[in-house]
Amino acid sequence: MKLIFLGPPGAGKGTQAERVAETYGLAHISTGEMLRSEMRRETPLGLEAKAYMEAGELVPDELVIRMAGERLNAPDAKGFLLDGFPRTLAQAEALSGVTDVDAVINIDVPPERLAERLSGRRSCPGCGLTSHVSVLPSGKCPKCGGELVQRADDKHETVMERLEVYRKQTAPLVGYYADKNLLYTVNGDQDIDAVTRELTGVLRKFV
Ligand code: AMP
Repeated sequence: MKLIFLGPPGAGKGTQAERVAETYGLAHISTGEMLRSEMRRETPLGLEAKAYMEAGELVPDELVIRMAGERLNAPDAKGFLLDGFPRTLAQAEALSGVTDVDAVINIDVPPERLAERLSGRRSCPGCGLTSHVSVLPSGKCPKCGGELVQRADDKHETVMERLEVYRKQTAPLVGYYADKNLLYTVNGDQDIDAVTRELTGVLRKFV
């Protein structure tokens, strides 16, 4: 299966992508995770991406397209799930020159729910678990006991900018993929397991 998960920041793409990739044995390709890893390792790409990411802006197309293209060429990426890529029409066009896709899943959440979801998001630097302050008010990771932290770009001002960037630059991809008859929409405004069930139902026809 070759899939794209589309949806605004805070829709739960990462959480669902992890589950679906595991279930179907797909390479989970998250450009946001790849860029954060480049930043931690202070590579030239990481250093270039840092200012954009911290401001909630998109990293320039040319850099992200090259990075995603290399990852898609890796031997383990025969079946893949793209999480957070493409995010612009230019990226979508570039992707179509590299590979076809079976389905684009739009995880739909009303805009007014997103700011609260993102600002309350916490993750564990130790094991990668992602959760929400309302679920884990203790600030401790239930899996490994680590101290949960907030992603730098989940701070309130940056969140508002990311949502605006989504609306202007990424939301047009919903229509772009609908026109190609590739779009499936899933209701992301329900509990995590219910979203996974709905997604699995959509994906059944591609297995
Ligand atoms: P994410 O983890 O998907 O929310 O991505 C975090 C940040 O990484 C975004 O706010 C962008 O700054 C950058 N980023 C991730 N994927 C892309 C992309 N496809 N195009 C441009 N910037 C990206």
